[in-house]
Amino acid sequence: MLDNEPTVCPQCGRPLIEIDYYGEGLIGCADCNLWRKNGEEHLKSLTEEDLEAWSLSNARHKAEDTSP
Ligand SMILES: [Zn+2]
Repeated sequence: MLDNEPTVCPQCGRPLIEIDYYGEGLIGCADCNLWRKNGEEHLKSLTEEDLEAWSLSNARHKAEDTSP
């Protein structure tokens, strides 16, 4: 990761999170729905369907996590 990559959302100042979007890493803000690919500056918004699918798969990952 580059040192000059912003780690907070330029719009709301919240910390950026990384999600797995169809096998690609996207970094962005869930509140503002602004995302960009790792290493790219191009911002994109995800559709509600995309976000829903992501949170569902994310929840499933968490459910499969059987840490003691
Ligand atoms: Zn934001």
